[in-house]
Amino acid sequence: VSAKLIDGKQIAAEVEAEVRAECEALATRGVIPGLVAIRVGDDPASEVYVRNKAKKATELGLRGTQQHMVASTSQQELEAEIDRLNADDDVDGILLQLPLPPHLDAKALLDRIDPRKDVDGFHPVNVGRLQQGRACLAPCTPMGVIRLLESSGIAIGGCRAVVVGRSDIVGKPVAVLLLHRHATVTIAHSRTPDLAFVVREADIVVAAVGRPMMITGDMIKPGAAVIDVGINRIEPGFDKLAMLGEAKRNAVLTKGSALVGDVDFESASRVAGWITPVPGGVGPMTIAYLLKNTVQAAKDRRA
Ligand code: NDP
Repeated sequence: VSAKLIDGKQIAAEVEAEVRAECEALATRGVIPGLVAIRVGDDPASEVYVRNKAKKATELGLRGTQQHMVASTSQQELEAEIDRLNADDDVDGILLQLPLPPHLDAKALLDRIDPRKDVDGFHPVNVGRLQQGRACLAPCTPMGVIRLLESSGIAIGGCRAVVVGRSDIVGKPVAVLLLHRHATVTIAHSRTPDLAFVVREADIVVAAVGRPMMITGDMIKPGAAVIDVGINRIEPGFDKLAMLGEAKRNAVLTKGSALVGDVDFESASRVAGWITPVPGGVGPMTIAYLLKNTVQAAKDRRA
């Protein structure tokens, strides 16, 4: 490996320390930021995510509450619950864990969350404010990506950045945040011809695709910073198993599965200047920024 490893766990711990300090300062004014994470139905991954978010909130001095609603909950019932939380002064952040059961209209429910309590930064008001560079609650994973770059001393201003992926949750907001920091930004997606050519231009590559190891070392400009947002679970039948490093390949074979990113770490880390691992890169930043947003929301509502 010639690239420097960007340690997401360590940088997330720095963000968490900031959150803890802000909570201590708020506590002296009698304010404890409150986060409510709503989970509907029995998706096992959502259960883990919501539990971890509430647990980390409590650890850092916030009030973290999990709210579980049965899979048959109706749109109206959920709307009523969001209305109740919007009106509850002790609640600073409301998080609706996705995916929702198919009978529910996720967009309508996210739109119903008070933008001042929208700690995921998905409400159109926050999306619009972000676009215009105004104060807002910005989405957590994209903010985490920027913090990884900034904490690593990687200059964003004036560089060429390529974001692969154009989702509302990751790709588009990352691109906007990079643009505001004066990068020249290209957004690539599934209809981009010659992706390798486009990615090779980049001083900063952000991969947010959801396709295991699709960005390979031959697509990376020497010295570039590579931020891998992808989280993909692979199993022993995975066609690129031979490309994995020995430790990870053994983990897949002995444990039956492992997590890999959208970047082929082995080949990319021989060319890049900096690179994030998966897991342990972008992943830990997302919860840290969720809690940072909740503290921000608590401060803004009382300003
Ligand atoms: P989406 O599925 O919403 O978006 C994927 C994007 O990748 C789309 O814009 C799609 O293009 C593009 N894409 C798909 N195939 C190709 C291809 N062959 N070449 C170029 N672009 C392609 O995913 P998300 O943005 O929600 O998530 C992306 C990844 O990040 C996932 O692995 C997810 O698990 C992970 N993630 C990680 C988080 C973390 O905390 N670390 C948080 C959120 C997500 P098009 O628009 O044309 O279809």
